[in-house]
Amino acid sequence: MDQIAERVQAIRDRIDAACAAAGRPAGSVELLPVSKTRPASSVLAAYAVGCRRFGENKAQEAHAKAIELAGTPGLEWVMIGHLQSNKAKLVAEFASEFQGLDSLPLAAELDRRLLASGRRLDVLIQVNSSGEDSKFGLPPSEVAQFASALEPFVALRVRGLMTLALPSPDAAQVAACFERVLDVQRDLRHAPVPGQTYDELSMGMSGDFELAIAHGATVVRIGTAIFGIRSPVH
Ligand SMILES: *Cc1c(COP(=O)(O)O)cnc(C)c1O
Repeated sequence: MDQIAERVQAIRDRIDAACAAAGRPAGSVELLPVSKTRPASSVLAAYAVGCRRFGENKAQEAHAKAIELAGTPGLEWVMIGHLQSNKAKLVAEFASEFQGLDSLPLAAELDRRLLASGRRLDVLIQVNSSGEDSKFGLPPSEVAQFASALEPFVALRVRGLMTLALPSPDAAQVAACFERVLDVQRDLRHAPVPGQTYDELSMGMSGDFELAIAHGATVVRIGTAIFGIRSPVH
């Protein structure tokens, strides 16, 4: 087995162990490999061991890979993190999901482009759970209002929340970020917007995914732990 395949398997084992430790069923957490900056050959190495959905955070790069791998059955592209409105047209063409919605102009533009091409897009709303200025996403207190403002955008299917926790060695501070997202999910579920569901929680990356699983993550986004260290330009 090549190294990427081995690492995928190792992460799966750790996800299973984290689920067991949290008393959650095996298979309740999706591994989303994050292939940004990696070539199509790396995507195919993970595909060979069963991965089908891949996370990318640059629209042009992702689109180029989608074209290169267009003949690969079942492959899906998930855009993660901040997206500029001028990339909405491209993303509407090929992405199956967008984890990072945090602005109404972007939502409107995505909706318009999706309707034009007869597509729909699953979306997760990005929550700024750490309070850092450098992070995108909505403050927890603004998510409910934002969700209700998305109701007219019928091509967008809101399915949950996404966050990046504080990058900190202090597990309590990281866990507090995940807890803030759970609070937002609870509030949304009390007064759901028609057409929306909030079951998906995309939280946890290479450095904190086990903690995220302990706090209810349903999707973990793993880049470096599968594909290795990225070059510093990204
Ligand atoms: C790059 C990226 C990841 C993966 O991070 P790793 O630490 O390499 O696992 C996860 N989420 C987002 C939004 C990213 O941009």
